[in-house]
Amino acid sequence: MNIHEYQAKVLFKNYGINVPNFKVISNSNETKNACEELGGSVWVVKAQVHAGGRGKGGGVIVCHTIEDAISASKKLLGSNLITPQTDSTGQPINKIIVEAGQEISKELYLGLLVDRATESITILASTEGGMDIEEVATNSPEKIIKQAINPLGKLEIKECHEVAAKIGLSLSLYDQFTSTMIGLYNIFTDNDANLIEINPLIITSNNNIIALDGKIDFDDNALYRNEEISSLRDIEQEDKKERSASEHQLNYISLDGSVGCMVNGAGLAMATMDLIEYHGGSPANFLDVGGGTTSERVAKAFEIIQSGKNVKAILVNIFGGIVRCDLIANGILQAIEKVGLTLPIVVRLEGTNAQEGLEILNKSNINIVTEADLTKAAKKIVEMAK
Ligand code: ADP
Ligand code: MG
Repeated sequence: MNIHEYQAKVLFKNYGINVPNFKVISNSNETKNACEELGGSVWVVKAQVHAGGRGKGGGVIVCHTIEDAISASKKLLGSNLITPQTDSTGQPINKIIVEAGQEISKELYLGLLVDRATESITILASTEGGMDIEEVATNSPEKIIKQAINPLGKLEIKECHEVAAKIGLSLSLYDQFTSTMIGLYNIFTDNDANLIEINPLIITSNNNIIALDGKIDFDDNALYRNEEISSLRDIEQEDKKERSASEHQLNYISLDGSVGCMVNGAGLAMATMDLIEYHGGSPANFLDVGGGTTSERVAKAFEIIQSGKNVKAILVNIFGGIVRCDLIANGILQAIEKVGLTLPIVVRLEGTNAQEGLEILNKSNINIVTEADLTKAAKKIVEMAK
């Protein structure tokens, strides 16, 4: 689960990490007050959306007058922000922050994540922070240092100093850097985070270290024991189709290709997507209807798949193990009866009672192409989606 920048900054502050003063507002009428209460002469108006790259998408606006801040608020609130990390519709801006402008002398990058390779929480740090960190990671990965934290201990001051030295910080900044790192580590371990990023972590012109941005992703599987964190969820920022799918115990992820896929089992779903790609197509989604699926769930899955604007054809790929293919076939027919079928469809059934299942579909008067062989099914659907 992701949270907003302003929520991350509240956590940062509670854990002793310096952040700029800011006000959260949801109505542009509140901008003037916010600027006045913050004081100073530079304000930064920032869209609160669950996506990075806001600066590049026009969602971070530096303002030198209150009038500018008001028009920036008006421009952002109520619109959608499209960034290099969103889809073409963008994310809705329901809240913004007005933040005290900072005098930046250096932008660093500091992150913590669970590194599966070393099975430990790992520090990522770089002197090349800021809006082009992705480019740094691709073109000069040596500029990002990586250090695993001993999973059996706590983060030690010594380790923080090592990281500070590796990125060449001046000695006068070691204490501030260390308390930032320890705050981050404690947020991470206290709340079951998967990833925390401060980009940029700035050094100001008067030598203070401040977190200017904050991104935190929490482990969904641990939310049950982190009530306060759970309450930070903003469902407005989540994909509507993914949300409705999860309410029906469907594992659904939107993708940007044209072949809708309905599959039972995550492994089979991955294999199906690979095969579609291999034959020149591209999947519009990842949808796993689960093991003991019901016709209601199949119907919901159809509804969700067909509502995707980019979907041109649907491939159903079911491997009947415990589930019998004849039940699945009936489920598919019931689903189509209920929600209608507006797209070409190929159904591949294999496993328990596959023959019976295919016969049921072939006998129906609905225009379903059946196929027992997965490769042939994939080739057919790629053709149809064209
Ligand atoms: P994103 O990463 O989504 O683009 P950031 O919060 O990192 O958004 O802001 C982008 C850039 O805008 C930062 O790298 C920094 O240069 C500038 N910026 C952001 N907040 C402030 C601020 N309070 N004062 C001065 N500059 C800022
Ligand atoms: Mg940033």
